[in-house]
Amino acid sequence: MVLRELELRHFRNLGVQELRFPPEGVAVVGDNAQGKSNLLEAIYYLESFRSFRGAGDGQLGAFSEDVFHLRAAVSGERPATVSAGFDRKLRKKKVTVDGNDASRIADALGRLGAVAFSPADAGLVSGGPGRRRRFLDVVLSLNRPGYVKALQEYRRALVQRNAALRAGSGRAAVRAWEGPLVTQGGAVAVLRQEWVAAWADAFAAYYRAVSGNGAAAMEYRPNLGVGADPADDASDPPPEAARESFRRKLDDGWDDDVRRGSTGAGPHRDELRITVESGGRRVPVRTYGSGGQRRTAALALRLVEAATIRRQRAAEPILLLDDAFAELDPGRSERVMSLMEEEGRGQVILTVPKESDVRLRSMSLARWRIRAGAIEA
Ligand code: ATP
Ligand code: MG
Repeated sequence: MVLRELELRHFRNLGVQELRFPPEGVAVVGDNAQGKSNLLEAIYYLESFRSFRGAGDGQLGAFSEDVFHLRAAVSGERPATVSAGFDRKLRKKKVTVDGNDASRIADALGRLGAVAFSPADAGLVSGGPGRRRRFLDVVLSLNRPGYVKALQEYRRALVQRNAALRAGSGRAAVRAWEGPLVTQGGAVAVLRQEWVAAWADAFAAYYRAVSGNGAAAMEYRPNLGVGADPADDASDPPPEAARESFRRKLDDGWDDDVRRGSTGAGPHRDELRITVESGGRRVPVRTYGSGGQRRTAALALRLVEAATIRRQRAAEPILLLDDAFAELDPGRSERVMSLMEEEGRGQVILTVPKESDVRLRSMSLARWRIRAGAIEA
């Protein structure tokens, strides 16, 4: 996909501007705190309708304004005009695609086909399992029809079961919530498992390519315990096996669940395990990885995300690189850039504090300057 136009109205410090992007992309150069990350955050907001930095919608409008509004026109395989607005006072979000209100935001997700790479991504790997579950949720929500719905219904059932547990409702009343919990939770687990199985080799290959010769692996560690190895349940279709295991775990965990007032089993306890090879052992990168290993593993995850878009939507992803190679050594950052070049010739929108941070292919991109939120093309 290609981002052609972006209209900004009171998003963070970006004021009111209309930008026209070159199809090959652009390098945005500016000092610290001028609005580089804000610009990429605005673009990615129109892909996912939330901040890639984890900020709440209420933080995204300019300090002095109650309402922000964004609109993008994209061309390519699925041309569209996507807009989003948020009113801080009314706490109301409005999303449209081609001028039509999206009654459910889920229907408007993923129209840009963008992937955001940010220095904060190292936290994907070094943070707790929740960070990696969120990564899986975002990738699958944007790329697998049905995932968002299963996840939302799973969460709803989980909230209700937990409330029933806390109300001391007894086994039979709590069990009433377990039908949807087990069905939707099983679906979530199976989709996660399929995605990890499909992309584990690519993850290892990207890690090797970026690091030069290092080895890393990603593995799905499902709390339900099924589907980690597709060969496990050759006779049983995975959704049934996952549901079966989930039911058993709920029964086994009953006493603990009552004591805690929450549900101990289920995909909300899954882990996406990332390991690196160090001294002949495979160790979790989260605990033993060096800074560079973590950043490289995080980059490999984003490259897999981009490859997922390329395959799933048959469209070249838009790469948003927020000073993404800031902390990589020059060898690694050049290898990432040439890897991106080999993978596809999609649009690249990158930000850098200094002109000299622009490398390889991006060297030929047009340069824009940004100062105090104002972009000069
Ligand atoms: P760096 O190179 O340090 O990463 P940057 O150019 O990416 O800098 P941004 O994160 O885009 O900087 O932030 C630019 C400015 O926007 C900061 O001064 C920040 O305080 C300001 N800012 C953040 N949120 C808002 C908001 N809601 N309204 C107005 N300004 C904001
Ligand atoms: Mg920044």
